[in-house]
Amino acid sequence: MTGIMNGKRGLIMGVANNHSIAWGIAQKLAGQGAELAFTYQGEALGKRVKPLAAELGSDFVIPCDVEDIASVDSTIEAIKEKWGKLDFVVHAIGFSDKNELKGLYADTSRDNFSRTMVISCFSFTEIAKRAAELMTEGGSLLTLTYGGSVRIMPNYNVMGVAKAALEASVRYLAGDYGPRGIRVNAISAGPIRTLAGAGISDARAMLSWQQKNAPLRRTVTIEDVGNSALYLLSDLSSGVTGEIHYVDAGYNITSMPTLERLAK
Ligand code: NAD
Repeated sequence: MTGIMNGKRGLIMGVANNHSIAWGIAQKLAGQGAELAFTYQGEALGKRVKPLAAELGSDFVIPCDVEDIASVDSTIEAIKEKWGKLDFVVHAIGFSDKNELKGLYADTSRDNFSRTMVISCFSFTEIAKRAAELMTEGGSLLTLTYGGSVRIMPNYNVMGVAKAALEASVRYLAGDYGPRGIRVNAISAGPIRTLAGAGISDARAMLSWQQKNAPLRRTVTIEDVGNSALYLLSDLSSGVTGEIHYVDAGYNITSMPTLERLAK
């Protein structure tokens, strides 16, 4: 199967480096013919993102910090000026103070709760609203979440609460924009070693637990997530919206440690 994204133009938000989930997704999309624009947060990351974008034939690279709504507006304005329309958006953005990604959830501060919610959850709604204006022939919006939204995961804390709200936003946005042919979905990825992933205390233990206990007996890769994102962003998923699609080697369906572990 080749060229399933031919003629489609999309915005990739959340590449920090070549370990980023957004990068895994971008590679799959470009490999199928999509034309991509990228955002980066701050000049230090810009230096990494520009050469990566160039690898995929893109020089359309825009600074955007979602805490600053003016920078979100100017990102959408830049796309409107250059392309006039947009077919898809990947939102792979999350942040919380790493000092609060350990210990008790109950100790979350008010300031970090608000900041985590704005960056990791509300930014998707703000971007969707603006991007939808450019999706004149329908479109597909995708965000990234984690199973800590529906079950407690040690140390994930306020990020779990923000991801729960993000998943609810996916359903409400799917309801809002469905009549315009714009689909809204999320991928719930298993743990992957990335910059953001490393901010969570005991990340290494989470990865090894998943590897031992997921049905596929492994962790997932950014290529695994990229493959599923390609489906959700392409016409292959034309009848799918409001979904939280797990790409976690099946970990979410388990309820107790594997039999091999119990036998030890
Ligand atoms: P990453 O560190 O590579 O990407 C996170 C991105 O968020 C970075 O590019 C960073 O610049 C961006 N970001 C943070 N604050 C921002 C702001 N104010 N404005 C603009 N951008 C901002 O890590 P990743 O693991 O690829 O994370 C991508 C998404 O996937 C996040 O939403 C994360 O929660 C989610 N996710 C990660 C995992 C995992 O284990 N790594 C699992 C499930 C879901």
